[in-house]
Amino acid sequence: MNTQSRREFLKTAGLLGAGIAGIKPKEAAASPVNIVSDDRMGVLVDSTVCIGCRQCEIACKEEHGLPVGSLDDYMDRTLLAEMRRPDTTALTVINEYPNPKNPDQHTDLKVQCMHCDHPACVSACIVGAFSKQENGAVIWDESRCIGCRYCMVACPFQVPAFEFDKALEPKIMKCDLCYDNRTSKGKLPACVEACPQNALIFGKRYELLQLAHQKIQDRPQSYFDHIYGEHEVGGTSWLYLSNQDFASLDFPDVGTEPMPGATEPLQHALFKFFIPPVALYGLLGGIMWLGKGNKAEEEE
Ligand code: SF4
Ligand code: SF4
Ligand code: SF4
Repeated sequence: MNTQSRREFLKTAGLLGAGIAGIKPKEAAASPVNIVSDDRMGVLVDSTVCIGCRQCEIACKEEHGLPVGSLDDYMDRTLLAEMRRPDTTALTVINEYPNPKNPDQHTDLKVQCMHCDHPACVSACIVGAFSKQENGAVIWDESRCIGCRYCMVACPFQVPAFEFDKALEPKIMKCDLCYDNRTSKGKLPACVEACPQNALIFGKRYELLQLAHQKIQDRPQSYFDHIYGEHEVGGTSWLYLSNQDFASLDFPDVGTEPMPGATEPLQHALFKFFIPPVALYGLLGGIMWLGKGNKAEEEE
Protein backbone atom coordinates (compact mmCIF):
# COMPACT_ATOMS: atom_id res chain seq x y z
CA MET A 1 0.00 0.00 0.00
CA ASN A 2 1.59 3.25 -1.03
CA THR A 3 1.45 6.64 0.62
CA GLN A 4 -0.72 8.01 -2.17
CA SER A 5 -3.49 5.42 -1.65
CA ARG A 6 -3.47 6.10 2.08
CA ARG A 7 -3.81 9.83 1.48
CA GLU A 8 -6.69 9.18 -0.90
CA PHE A 9 -8.44 7.01 1.67
CA LEU A 10 -8.11 9.61 4.40
CA LYS A 11 -9.36 12.31 2.06
CA THR A 12 -12.41 10.20 1.14
CA ALA A 13 -12.97 9.27 4.77
CA GLY A 14 -12.81 12.92 5.75
CA LEU A 15 -15.35 13.89 3.10
CA LEU A 16 -17.61 11.00 4.07
CA GLY A 17 -17.45 11.91 7.74
CA ALA A 18 -17.96 15.60 7.09
CA GLY A 19 -20.82 14.90 4.67
CA ILE A 20 -22.71 12.59 6.97
CA ALA A 21 -22.08 14.81 9.94
CA GLY A 22 -23.48 17.67 7.94
CA ILE A 23 -26.67 15.76 7.13
CA LYS A 24 -27.42 14.54 10.63
CA PRO A 25 -25.65 16.57 13.28
CA LYS A 26 -26.49 15.25 16.70
CA GLU A 27 -24.60 15.64 19.94
CA ALA A 28 -24.35 12.18 21.45
CA ALA A 29 -23.74 11.39 25.08
CA ALA A 30 -21.39 8.54 24.25
CA SER A 31 -18.21 9.72 25.93
CA PRO A 32 -16.58 6.81 27.76
CA VAL A 33 -17.06 6.60 31.53
CA ASN A 34 -13.86 5.41 33.17
CA ILE A 35 -13.64 6.26 36.85
CA VAL A 36 -10.33 5.26 38.43
CA SER A 37 -11.14 6.01 42.05
CA ASP A 38 -8.40 5.78 44.69
CA ASP A 39 -10.81 3.65 46.72
CA ARG A 40 -11.75 1.27 43.93
CA MET A 41 -12.26 -2.30 44.96
CA GLY A 42 -10.71 -5.45 43.62
CA VAL A 43 -10.16 -9.14 44.25
CA LEU A 44 -6.87 -10.75 45.20
CA VAL A 45 -6.65 -14.32 43.90
CA ASP A 46 -4.16 -16.37 45.88
CA SER A 47 -3.83 -19.34 43.57
CA THR A 48 -1.47 -21.08 46.01
CA VAL A 49 -4.45 -21.95 48.23
CA CYS A 50 -7.03 -22.61 45.50
CA ILE A 51 -8.04 -26.30 45.42
CA GLY A 52 -9.97 -26.22 42.15
CA CYS A 53 -13.30 -27.02 43.82
CA ARG A 54 -15.20 -24.78 41.36
CA GLN A 55 -17.58 -23.50 44.01
CA CYS A 56 -16.87 -20.05 42.59
CA GLU A 57 -18.07 -21.18 39.16
CA ILE A 58 -21.31 -22.53 40.62
CA ALA A 59 -21.93 -19.40 42.69
CA CYS A 60 -21.31 -17.16 39.70
CA LYS A 61 -23.77 -19.09 37.54
CA GLU A 62 -26.43 -19.04 40.23
CA GLU A 63 -25.94 -15.30 40.74
CA HIS A 64 -26.33 -14.61 37.03
CA GLY A 65 -29.14 -17.00 36.26
CA LEU A 66 -27.00 -19.29 34.10
CA PRO A 67 -27.67 -23.05 34.01
CA VAL A 68 -25.59 -24.79 36.69
CA GLY A 69 -26.19 -28.36 35.49
CA SER A 70 -25.47 -31.41 37.61
CA LEU A 71 -23.33 -30.76 40.66
CA ASP A 72 -21.68 -34.16 40.08
CA ASP A 73 -20.12 -32.75 36.91
CA TYR A 74 -18.12 -30.33 39.02
CA MET A 75 -16.30 -33.26 40.64
CA ASP A 76 -14.81 -34.20 37.26
CA ARG A 77 -11.30 -32.76 37.43
CA THR A 78 -10.37 -33.77 33.88
CA LEU A 79 -12.25 -30.68 32.73
CA LEU A 80 -9.72 -28.49 34.55
CA ALA A 81 -7.03 -29.51 32.06
CA GLU A 82 -9.05 -28.27 29.09
CA MET A 83 -7.91 -24.68 29.60
CA ARG A 84 -11.38 -23.28 29.16
CA ARG A 85 -12.11 -19.62 28.69
CA PRO A 86 -15.03 -17.67 30.15
CA ASP A 87 -17.94 -17.75 27.71
CA THR A 88 -21.66 -17.17 27.54
CA THR A 89 -22.33 -20.22 29.71
CA ALA A 90 -19.74 -19.45 32.43
CA LEU A 91 -18.46 -15.97 33.29
CA THR A 92 -15.62 -17.51 35.24
CA VAL A 93 -13.81 -20.84 34.93
CA ILE A 94 -11.09 -22.73 36.79
CA ASN A 95 -8.17 -24.24 34.91
CA GLU A 96 -5.36 -26.42 36.21
CA TYR A 97 -1.75 -25.95 35.12
CA PRO A 98 1.18 -28.27 35.74
CA ASN A 99 4.13 -26.75 37.55
CA PRO A 100 7.04 -26.82 35.07
CA LYS A 101 9.56 -27.03 37.93
CA ASN A 102 7.80 -29.69 39.95
CA PRO A 103 5.71 -32.40 38.23
CA ASP A 104 4.02 -33.26 41.54
CA GLN A 105 2.53 -29.78 41.80
CA HIS A 106 -0.09 -27.91 39.87
CA THR A 107 -1.85 -24.56 40.08
CA ASP A 108 -5.61 -24.13 39.95
CA LEU A 109 -6.44 -20.77 38.50
CA LYS A 110 -9.65 -18.77 38.30
CA VAL A 111 -10.17 -16.80 35.08
CA GLN A 112 -12.63 -13.96 34.43
CA CYS A 113 -12.65 -10.32 33.34
CA MET A 114 -9.75 -8.48 34.97
CA HIS A 115 -11.71 -5.23 35.44
CA CYS A 116 -8.87 -3.15 34.04
CA ASP A 117 -8.25 0.35 35.40
CA HIS A 118 -7.99 1.62 31.83
CA PRO A 119 -10.21 -0.87 30.03
CA ALA A 120 -9.68 -1.35 26.32
CA CYS A 121 -13.32 -2.44 26.06
CA VAL A 122 -14.43 0.95 27.40
CA SER A 123 -12.13 2.76 24.99
CA ALA A 124 -13.18 0.66 22.03
CA CYS A 125 -16.93 0.87 22.53
CA ILE A 126 -18.23 3.47 20.14
CA VAL A 127 -21.52 4.03 21.96
CA GLY A 128 -20.33 4.03 25.57
CA ALA A 129 -21.95 0.70 26.43
CA PHE A 130 -18.98 -0.24 28.61
CA SER A 131 -18.00 1.78 31.67
CA LYS A 132 -15.67 1.55 34.64
CA GLN A 133 -17.60 2.29 37.81
CA GLU A 134 -16.29 4.01 40.91
CA ASN A 135 -16.09 0.72 42.80
CA GLY A 136 -13.80 -0.74 40.14
CA ALA A 137 -16.34 -2.83 38.22
CA VAL A 138 -16.29 -2.68 34.42
CA ILE A 139 -19.87 -3.23 33.32
CA TRP A 140 -21.84 -3.45 30.09
CA ASP A 141 -25.08 -1.59 29.39
CA GLU A 142 -27.41 -3.62 27.20
CA SER A 143 -29.55 -0.59 26.33
CA ARG A 144 -26.64 1.17 24.61
CA CYS A 145 -24.96 -1.75 22.85
CA ILE A 146 -25.32 -1.93 19.06
CA GLY A 147 -23.70 -5.37 18.78
CA CYS A 148 -20.58 -4.24 16.91
CA ARG A 149 -18.38 -6.52 19.08
CA TYR A 150 -15.50 -4.05 19.03
CA CYS A 151 -15.04 -4.76 22.74
CA MET A 152 -14.27 -8.41 21.99
CA VAL A 153 -11.52 -7.46 19.57
CA ALA A 154 -10.04 -4.83 21.88
CA CYS A 155 -9.84 -6.83 25.12
CA PRO A 156 -6.22 -7.94 25.70
CA PHE A 157 -7.51 -10.86 27.79
CA GLN A 158 -10.10 -12.07 25.25
CA VAL A 159 -12.90 -11.93 27.78
CA PRO A 160 -16.16 -10.52 26.39
CA ALA A 161 -18.29 -13.27 24.85
CA PHE A 162 -21.17 -12.80 22.44
CA GLU A 163 -24.35 -14.85 22.41
CA PHE A 164 -24.02 -15.99 18.80
CA ASP A 165 -26.74 -18.59 19.33
CA LYS A 166 -29.37 -15.96 20.14
CA ALA A 167 -30.97 -14.38 17.11
CA LEU A 168 -32.97 -11.90 19.18
CA GLU A 169 -31.18 -9.48 21.49
CA PRO A 170 -27.89 -11.34 21.88
CA LYS A 171 -25.83 -10.12 24.83
CA ILE A 172 -22.17 -9.45 25.47
CA MET A 173 -21.36 -11.61 28.48
CA LYS A 174 -18.55 -11.17 30.97
CA CYS A 175 -17.94 -10.99 34.72
CA ASP A 176 -19.54 -7.80 36.04
CA LEU A 177 -18.02 -8.03 39.54
CA CYS A 178 -21.58 -8.81 40.62
CA TYR A 179 -22.18 -5.09 40.34
CA ASP A 180 -25.97 -4.78 40.24
CA ASN A 181 -27.02 -6.97 43.13
CA ARG A 182 -23.90 -7.16 45.23
CA THR A 183 -20.81 -4.96 45.01
CA SER A 184 -22.70 -1.73 44.26
CA LYS A 185 -24.57 -2.41 47.51
CA GLY A 186 -21.52 -3.15 49.63
CA LYS A 187 -21.85 -6.93 49.42
CA LEU A 188 -19.25 -9.50 48.43
CA PRO A 189 -19.09 -10.89 44.90
CA ALA A 190 -20.80 -14.30 44.79
CA CYS A 191 -17.60 -16.17 43.95
CA VAL A 192 -15.70 -14.58 46.83
CA GLU A 193 -18.47 -15.44 49.26
CA ALA A 194 -18.54 -19.04 48.04
CA CYS A 195 -14.81 -19.76 48.14
CA PRO A 196 -14.10 -22.17 51.01
CA GLN A 197 -10.35 -21.57 50.90
CA ASN A 198 -10.19 -17.78 51.20
CA ALA A 199 -8.39 -17.92 47.87
CA LEU A 200 -10.43 -14.90 46.78
CA ILE A 201 -10.18 -11.73 48.87
CA PHE A 202 -12.37 -8.73 48.08
CA GLY A 203 -11.21 -5.32 49.26
CA LYS A 204 -9.83 -1.94 48.33
CA ARG A 205 -7.29 -2.44 45.59
CA TYR A 206 -4.49 -0.58 47.34
CA GLU A 207 -5.02 -2.66 50.49
CA LEU A 208 -5.02 -5.88 48.48
CA LEU A 209 -1.69 -4.84 46.96
CA GLN A 210 -0.25 -4.21 50.42
CA LEU A 211 -1.49 -7.64 51.52
CA ALA A 212 -0.09 -9.33 48.42
CA HIS A 213 3.35 -7.75 48.88
CA GLN A 214 3.30 -8.77 52.54
CA LYS A 215 2.49 -12.36 51.61
CA ILE A 216 5.41 -12.50 49.18
CA GLN A 217 7.73 -10.96 51.78
CA ASP A 218 6.62 -13.31 54.55
CA ARG A 219 6.75 -16.48 52.47
CA PRO A 220 9.09 -15.95 49.53
CA GLN A 221 9.45 -19.72 49.10
CA SER A 222 5.71 -20.00 48.39
CA TYR A 223 5.27 -17.22 45.88
CA PHE A 224 6.61 -16.19 42.53
CA ASP A 225 7.73 -12.60 43.10
CA HIS A 226 5.16 -10.89 40.92
CA ILE A 227 1.60 -9.65 41.45
CA TYR A 228 -0.12 -10.02 38.09
CA GLY A 229 -2.43 -7.06 37.58
CA GLU A 230 -0.49 -4.59 39.71
CA HIS A 231 0.95 -2.93 36.62
CA GLU A 232 -0.29 -4.96 33.63
CA VAL A 233 -2.11 -2.75 31.09
CA GLY A 234 -1.92 0.09 33.59
CA GLY A 235 -3.33 -1.99 36.46
CA THR A 236 -6.36 -4.22 36.95
CA SER A 237 -8.89 -4.68 39.75
CA TRP A 238 -8.29 -8.42 39.85
CA LEU A 239 -4.82 -9.24 41.17
CA TYR A 240 -3.08 -12.61 41.19
CA LEU A 241 -0.50 -14.39 43.31
CA SER A 242 1.04 -17.66 42.21
CA ASN A 243 3.90 -19.98 43.02
CA GLN A 244 4.92 -20.21 39.37
CA ASP A 245 5.75 -17.87 36.55
CA PHE A 246 2.61 -16.27 35.10
CA ALA A 247 3.73 -17.06 31.55
CA SER A 248 3.36 -20.75 32.42
CA LEU A 249 -0.23 -20.01 33.47
CA ASP A 250 -1.18 -18.56 30.08
CA PHE A 251 -1.29 -15.01 31.42
CA PRO A 252 -0.44 -12.84 28.43
CA ASP A 253 2.53 -10.49 28.52
CA VAL A 254 0.51 -7.36 27.90
CA GLY A 255 3.03 -4.76 29.08
CA THR A 256 2.35 -2.04 31.60
CA GLU A 257 0.82 0.61 29.36
CA PRO A 258 -2.97 0.91 29.15
CA MET A 259 -4.37 -0.51 25.93
CA PRO A 260 -6.98 1.90 24.67
CA GLY A 261 -8.43 1.00 21.29
CA ALA A 262 -6.07 2.16 18.54
CA THR A 263 -8.98 4.02 16.95
CA GLU A 264 -10.28 5.56 20.20
CA PRO A 265 -9.73 9.26 19.46
CA LEU A 266 -11.45 8.93 16.09
CA GLN A 267 -14.38 6.94 17.47
CA HIS A 268 -15.21 9.42 20.17
CA ALA A 269 -14.67 12.40 17.89
CA LEU A 270 -17.07 10.86 15.37
CA PHE A 271 -19.71 10.26 17.99
CA LYS A 272 -19.78 13.90 18.90
CA PHE A 273 -21.65 14.22 15.59
CA PHE A 274 -23.62 10.99 15.33
CA ILE A 275 -22.45 8.98 12.32
CA PRO A 276 -24.41 5.89 11.34
CA PRO A 277 -22.58 2.65 12.19
CA VAL A 278 -22.33 1.56 8.52
CA ALA A 279 -20.27 4.63 7.67
CA LEU A 280 -18.31 4.24 10.85
CA TYR A 281 -17.41 0.64 10.06
CA GLY A 282 -16.10 1.81 6.70
CA LEU A 283 -13.90 4.40 8.33
CA LEU A 284 -12.63 2.11 11.07
CA GLY A 285 -12.04 -0.71 8.61
CA GLY A 286 -10.00 1.66 6.49
CA ILE A 287 -7.91 2.69 9.44
CA MET A 288 -7.21 -0.92 10.31
CA TRP A 289 -6.23 -1.45 6.66
CA LEU A 290 -3.84 1.49 6.87
CA GLY A 291 -2.39 0.14 10.10
CA LYS A 292 -1.72 -3.20 8.45
CA GLY A 293 -0.01 -1.39 5.62
CA ASN A 294 2.26 0.42 8.04
CA LYS A 295 3.17 -2.85 9.71
CA ALA A 296 3.95 -4.52 6.39
CA GLU A 297 6.17 -1.59 5.42
CA GLU A 298 7.99 -1.75 8.75
CA GLU A 299 8.55 -5.47 8.34
CA GLU A 300 9.88 -4.95 4.82
S1 SF4 B 1 -10.32 -7.70 30.83
FE1 SF4 B 1 -11.16 -7.09 28.84
S2 SF4 B 1 -13.36 -6.99 29.19
FE2 SF4 B 1 -12.41 -6.95 31.21
S3 SF4 B 1 -12.14 -4.77 31.70
FE3 SF4 B 1 -10.23 -5.44 30.74
S4 SF4 B 1 -10.50 -4.95 28.56
FE4 SF4 B 1 -12.56 -4.92 29.50
S1 SF4 C 1 -17.33 -11.33 40.61
FE1 SF4 C 1 -19.43 -12.08 40.24
S2 SF4 C 1 -19.57 -12.12 38.00
FE2 SF4 C 1 -17.40 -12.01 38.47
S3 SF4 C 1 -16.69 -14.14 38.55
FE3 SF4 C 1 -17.26 -13.56 40.64
S4 SF4 C 1 -19.37 -14.23 40.83
FE4 SF4 C 1 -18.93 -14.17 38.64
S1 SF4 D 1 -14.05 -21.56 45.13
FE1 SF4 D 1 -12.03 -20.82 45.77
S2 SF4 D 1 -10.84 -22.71 46.12
FE2 SF4 D 1 -12.64 -23.30 44.95
S3 SF4 D 1 -11.95 -23.19 42.81
FE3 SF4 D 1 -12.86 -21.20 43.27
S4 SF4 D 1 -11.15 -19.93 43.92
FE4 SF4 D 1 -10.46 -22.06 44.03
